[in-house]
Amino acid sequence: MSSGSDAFRAPKGTNDLLPPESWRWQGAVRLAMDLFARAGYEPVETPIFEHTEVFERGVGAATEVVGKQMYTFKDKGERSYTLRPEGTAPVVRAVLEHGLASGALPVKLAYAGPMFRQERPQKGRHRQFFQLGIEALGSDEPTIDAEVIEVGNRFLKTVGVEPQLKLNSIGHPDPSCRGAYMETLVTFLRDQEADLAEADRSRVDTNPLRTFDSKEEDTIKVMEDAPKITEHLCDPCREHFAAVSGNLDALGLKYEMAPSLVRGLDYYTRTAFEFTSAGLGSQDAVGGGGRYDGLSEALGGPPLPSIGFALGLDRILLASQADLPRPGIDVYVVALGDRARAEALVQATTLRAQGFGAELDHAGRSMKGQMKDADRSGARFAAIFGDREIEMGEVTLKDLQSGEQATIRSTDLAQALEKP
Ligand code: AMP
Repeated sequence: MSSGSDAFRAPKGTNDLLPPESWRWQGAVRLAMDLFARAGYEPVETPIFEHTEVFERGVGAATEVVGKQMYTFKDKGERSYTLRPEGTAPVVRAVLEHGLASGALPVKLAYAGPMFRQERPQKGRHRQFFQLGIEALGSDEPTIDAEVIEVGNRFLKTVGVEPQLKLNSIGHPDPSCRGAYMETLVTFLRDQEADLAEADRSRVDTNPLRTFDSKEEDTIKVMEDAPKITEHLCDPCREHFAAVSGNLDALGLKYEMAPSLVRGLDYYTRTAFEFTSAGLGSQDAVGGGGRYDGLSEALGGPPLPSIGFALGLDRILLASQADLPRPGIDVYVVALGDRARAEALVQATTLRAQGFGAELDHAGRSMKGQMKDADRSGARFAAIFGDREIEMGEVTLKDLQSGEQATIRSTDLAQALEKP
């Protein structure tokens, strides 16, 4: 049980999102989904929890996320469920379940929503965080790799993040490619085992590629001399990688080759990439992605070569100072006198129905108080109704930027707001 003092606070590692930050948040999500849609990525919503097996099989039991960070619980029927720690496995599960991949390929989907991982909270790292992602399922054409990366890059730039793009290829798991490389890597790691950080030694057996991800100084030093996957790719994977980088060059996209950038599971193949943002400190990754050509099969589906990314909105908004679009208040309806208050409500409601942003006083403020509240609301105009105006069917419209005001027919109000 929570102690009394903690019970009514948001759980550790979670955040309440309040105005004005909530506006930036919503603006970024809307912008993302529009931008993704313009490249053909259609919105998809999957449940916030899934059968635990979806992540065990889809992300991989050998990963930190599945091994250590999942919120897993049993429901009353004793079935094991998990709050989703990421979005890709659920999307692939949904595509397979509903047969979306039996139509035209690739299937292109976009999502936005909260993810859950029990990590140690710090700046830019939460237990509930928000990801935006796209997935393109059913194509291994190098053009789709470049499309996905470009869309992510453009969204980041649009919301005011200057991303650095890191790029790698991790080949495919066959003995002709990553299979042989893994043996070379494991031999190297065993030779250097004494110099690896204690915490990383067990990875040599469980998930050797992940030693490249270590944050431990000792391991980082060892890995500088480790054999790199890019030098051991099979011909088709090398050609695919060359084609992807060629497509990025054609788009004028700058990237840095990052031979240590890995995703440590068999389902992850070929292209791997990450976006970072300078100035975020140690948690500088704003997003990442790559190919997961083997994931569909891991979830019991047919071969379905696919690629996607996930961007972390919490960090994006930490990195960006940009103003994001928000619906504003166009007009504040000021009421002078009791009769005018009822009229102000009717007028504000009519204006809202006509598509304007309209506010009015609900706290019995004086005229001066209402004008002050109009400023707070950000409205460009104040529409002032007194008993005399109502009698005459008029309204005084004041431009709060220029200070100019004019009395007009109240039936002309919408038109006057339209063309200031
Ligand atoms: P991943 O799914 O681990 O590849 O993460 C993709 C992106 O999601 C990262 O680059 C971060 O921006 C964001 N992210 C991942 N985990 C967290 C977290 N615990 N808190 C905040 N953002 C996160």
